[in-house]
Amino acid sequence: MKPSSDSLVLDQPKRETSASSFDVARIREDFPILKTKSNGKPLVYLDNAATTQKPRAMIDALVRYYESQNANIHRGVYHLSQLATDLYEQARVKVQRFINAPEARQAIFTRGTTEGINLVATVFGRAMLKQGDEVFVSALEHHSNIVPWQLACQHSGATLRVIPMNDDGELLLDELEKMLSPRARMIAVNHVSNALGTINDVRRIVKMGHAVGAKVLIDGAQAVAHNKTDVRELDCDFYAFSGHKLFGPTGIGVLYGKRELLEALPPYHGGGDMIETVTFEKTTYAQLPNKFEAGTPDIAGVVGLGAAIDYVQSVGLDRVAAHEAELIKHLVEQLRQVPGVRIIGNARHRAGAVSFIINDPPIAAHDLGVALDMQGIAVRTGHHCCQPIMDRFGVPATVRASVAMYNTKEEIDVFIAALNKIVAAEAKMKAKLATAQAPSAPAEIVYPKAAAASPQAAADAVAEEFDLFEDREAKSEYVMELGRKLPHTFDLLKKVTTRVPGCMSEVYIVPRRVADTSDRVEFVADANAEIVRGEILILQRLFSGQKAKDVIDFDYEAFFRRIGLDQFITSQRRNGLEGMIRRLKSSAAELTGAKS
Ligand code: PLP
Repeated sequence: MKPSSDSLVLDQPKRETSASSFDVARIREDFPILKTKSNGKPLVYLDNAATTQKPRAMIDALVRYYESQNANIHRGVYHLSQLATDLYEQARVKVQRFINAPEARQAIFTRGTTEGINLVATVFGRAMLKQGDEVFVSALEHHSNIVPWQLACQHSGATLRVIPMNDDGELLLDELEKMLSPRARMIAVNHVSNALGTINDVRRIVKMGHAVGAKVLIDGAQAVAHNKTDVRELDCDFYAFSGHKLFGPTGIGVLYGKRELLEALPPYHGGGDMIETVTFEKTTYAQLPNKFEAGTPDIAGVVGLGAAIDYVQSVGLDRVAAHEAELIKHLVEQLRQVPGVRIIGNARHRAGAVSFIINDPPIAAHDLGVALDMQGIAVRTGHHCCQPIMDRFGVPATVRASVAMYNTKEEIDVFIAALNKIVAAEAKMKAKLATAQAPSAPAEIVYPKAAAASPQAAADAVAEEFDLFEDREAKSEYVMELGRKLPHTFDLLKKVTTRVPGCMSEVYIVPRRVADTSDRVEFVADANAEIVRGEILILQRLFSGQKAKDVIDFDYEAFFRRIGLDQFITSQRRNGLEGMIRRLKSSAAELTGAKS
């Protein structure tokens, strides 16, 4: 039943479900996007840790809000404004119940987890941190639970300390116990790691923190969609999460805080709605929660979040947790059978996500992501905003598959079958190359000569080759194939130059002026992803051995359009490619003095 536009009654969970059954097919019906195709294949969405898909009920709530309920809140005396205000505040009550907060006003609406953590780090840092104090984060954190605390420490003179982890990706809480002293003011840890899926024993961390007088903030971004959250039971001081990882809209999130703390802390942003009285001499602040909600908030986002919470409650998080535990168990079991796989992290308690790399034959995480995408499978590749975790495990990037309530064992089987196929094809290709002339590890670096009379002439020839391929899959495969032909100079180049900024993969370029010329440049380069190596080979054909001025003047945008680059390369990869071209153009100018 659709609530009427003036409904002021809190939506109640609508789904009739028995505790034992979990009808995933029925749940999938609620998510329109799951019926779509990606690259001509049924979408297999395994990037839920980045963001979840949206149920129809949530989408409808957003549309309904904008069609019939929209007005600014807390200000108008007229009906619509009061309706919007009620919807907004009702959503706060939904959040309160969802996380079992004592009072609704303890739930502050933010833009997401990142803003929630920044809020606390800023105001707690301002009011409660000083030189000699210690702030603890863990080795398992997302950058958004590291950088705000670094900033707070820089401003206050406090010291940032790191809770270590073991090789399974579990925090060493006995070590934390030894590190803690009355100097500890704050412990900020995630509930569930986005990179490894580790569930942290946050209850124990809270107890340990409180025992020495520290406050504890929990980053719940990866927890709230997978199991019940009870801030009273956890006894944490702050808990932050994002709506978009909980089947709600982007740009909205929640920060829960203990009332006495929120009341004691200074405001974060100043502006409308957060004040009681303002004069030029002095401002007094509004009560909670308004004190922390300056300016017009994302009202529709809050309404959407409320609808998403209704939806999740109607399914039942206990049952979601049980279903996902089965999925993760199946995923790990199946992944272990994939040849050459190394699963990163092996925590005893895990939720949501599994990270891995393929070692034998080595396939860069980004290449795996691109190849899986062609099969309609969406996974995340990269450092997952957790560079310290990648460093700890000695890998530049991983592939991460992450599940939500609507995923099925069958989808995991599709994913594993695709992975097996990619690994087998790569192994076959590597074996073929090994028996052929094997371009790997040249004794000496060879700079390619000019491939044509000008970059434009070379670009025309490359474009004609691309015309032979009809679809994006074939074009992308061709670039990968080119990548396999590029001589392996990665380790040599890495020693002599710095990484090209802006590329997802590690890219090294070494340009120089062509001997006995004053105006020509040539370059060698390598990367740790096959598709980028293919791009390098194309760039060498375009630019190496050419006149610097022609390199600088080359219209790469037109070339990208001509070969339809955007169809077969992600926007992130395009940015990386542009980064390489910028590096080449600036080197051409520096080496020869040529100008555009
Ligand atoms: N913390 C964790 C553990 C996360 O996984 C993420 C997002 O991936 C964040 C914080 C940041 O969330 P948001 O970008 O929604 O603010």
